[in-house]
Amino acid sequence: MKTALDSRPVLIAGGGIGGLAAALALVREGYNVKVIGQSAHIGEFGAGIQLSPNAFAACDALGVGANLRARAVYTDEMVMFDAIDAKRVIGIALDARFRERFGNPYTVIHRADIHGALLEGVQATTEGIEFLTSTKVVHIEQSDDGVTLIDAQGGRQARP
Ligand SMILES: Cc1cc2nc3c(=O)[nH]c(=O)nc-3n(C[C@H](O)[C@H](O)[C@H](O)COP(=O)(O)OP(=O)(O)OC[C@H]3O[C@@H](n4cnc5c(N)ncnc54)[C@H](O)[C@@H]3O)c2cc1C
Repeated sequence: MKTALDSRPVLIAGGGIGGLAAALALVREGYNVKVIGQSAHIGEFGAGIQLSPNAFAACDALGVGANLRARAVYTDEMVMFDAIDAKRVIGIALDARFRERFGNPYTVIHRADIHGALLEGVQATTEGIEFLTSTKVVHIEQSDDGVTLIDAQGGRQARP
């Protein structure tokens, strides 16, 4: 990790997959980060999503690729069906040849598991990331002097 470039925290509204990935990327570049989430806990729910090879490359760059590989479900074929008549349209092999060609697998994963992989990386980062939960951002003020997030209780988080 680089040394702190700037002690003023970068403000991130939302602690979902995007917010945590941004936090990890910024802290690895030496920035301090404050993640402001509307939920009481930093977590995730929802259904499964697909992860293409570039997602593994991105998570490797964030230092959480191993966390992701441990949680992902590896498939050998992706099959697409017509939504109207349910006929098979195409099957794409996702086997060893695919993984070799693209350098990473094509997998499926529960949304909470990709979030968990990122959160483990955030929790292993002892410095530079602060969380503010139960804080819904309702307004953003931005000027040449900085940015201020205003939450539903009237609280203000500023990056002057
Ligand atoms: C049906 C569906 C299927 C998808 N399938 C795939 C797929 O197969 N593969 C893939 O790579 N991507 C998929 N995506 C896209 C992927 O889910 C999104 O790109 C990803 O979740 C975006 O992450 P995010 O953190 O920006 O947003 P979110 O995951 O929506 O997280 C936003 C976070 O911000 C918090 N928040 C929201 N508003 C506020 C506020 N005002 N103040 C404070 N906190 C706030 C929320 O509580 C939440 O924690 C799919 C999306 C959908 C809807």
